[in-house]
Amino acid sequence: MAKPVICATIDFAQISKNAEAIIAATNKPLMAVVKADGYGHGLIPTAQAALRGGATWLGVAFTDEALTLRKSGITAPILAWLTPPTDDFAKALESGIDLSLSALDQLDAIMAASSLTGIKPRVHLKVDTGMSRGGALEEFPLLVSAIGELLNEQRIDLVATWSHLACADEPEHPLNANQLKRFHSALDYLESEGIDPGIRHFANSGGVLHLPELHFDMVRAGLLLYGYLPGGIATERISVQPAMELSAQVALVKRVPAGSTIGYGATAELSVDRFIGLIPLGYADGIPRQLLGEITCTIAGRRYPLIGRVSMDQVTVDLGSETEVRAGDEAIIFGAGSSATADDWAKAAGTISYEILSRIGSRVPRVAR
Ligand SMILES: *Cc1c(COP(=O)(O)O)cnc(C)c1O
Repeated sequence: MAKPVICATIDFAQISKNAEAIIAATNKPLMAVVKADGYGHGLIPTAQAALRGGATWLGVAFTDEALTLRKSGITAPILAWLTPPTDDFAKALESGIDLSLSALDQLDAIMAASSLTGIKPRVHLKVDTGMSRGGALEEFPLLVSAIGELLNEQRIDLVATWSHLACADEPEHPLNANQLKRFHSALDYLESEGIDPGIRHFANSGGVLHLPELHFDMVRAGLLLYGYLPGGIATERISVQPAMELSAQVALVKRVPAGSTIGYGATAELSVDRFIGLIPLGYADGIPRQLLGEITCTIAGRRYPLIGRVSMDQVTVDLGSETEVRAGDEAIIFGAGSSATADDWAKAAGTISYEILSRIGSRVPRVAR
């Protein structure tokens, strides 16, 4: 089958290997984080690849993502952690989805759904240890006592107690130690109330790499699974490789005379005749329009700089004063067939590889390698 004109080629075997590497490095069970369409790699096949690599849990933001995984036949435990009290918890319970718990109103809604369905909820109590995002903070003692009552009545399963790190990619940041301390206080508080915290999980990819004291009973890794390191920081501890290659077929090659301007806003002007190549990927496909640094794409092993603005559907590259590049040749934006990575693109766009990967647009077909 011919490769699509624009294509994200995904090496799912590499995702399995990356999962294996995370498990080997931590010696802990792995919750593979596959939210946001598996960071752009495709929700279901990514989850399957992670499970093949030994992951035993899946983590997503929304119950809808979890339901999609269930519908695909995946039976592994799945945690959804972005669940407002208005969410459809009945549906989530019926599909055996674990729910993160941060607040009393959310607990009420989950228990209402439990009464409706007759299903005992499985919850992961989330502690806000200093990120001030999800998790219980001032409500924590009240929430614990409500959980305590429900546990006594055997109306709920407290599967886990967990939290999330704000600065895991900066191992020296003082907040890490502070968050750990607050997590321990929360665990001590549960113990003083006679409540078993269940599985304790805290570490994301940065924590996996840099903070072994935060690994507890399970790690939750996303970025590493896709072969990237948070902050792009190299490490000896773990060896993972990128799983995605983003490519497109060159749509047009032509000579453009000196004095011409290129693209919207006429931001680039040619001082000499140049060959220009048209690459049919644009900001709708996740190519950042705001580029601060120079960026290249690779054609037949050679790197060519982007010239002019990124359009919605296309970018232009400077092929030089002579070129052997022809329309139909494959241009690689980043990944296996190129020396450029999503980190290079992130750096040029003033962002992080997470954003580059997860914003690859829905128009780009994901094709298994
Ligand atoms: C996204 C996310 C993760 C995974 O983070 P990585 O840095 O990609 O490993 C883990 N836990 C929570 C709560 C998340 O939202």
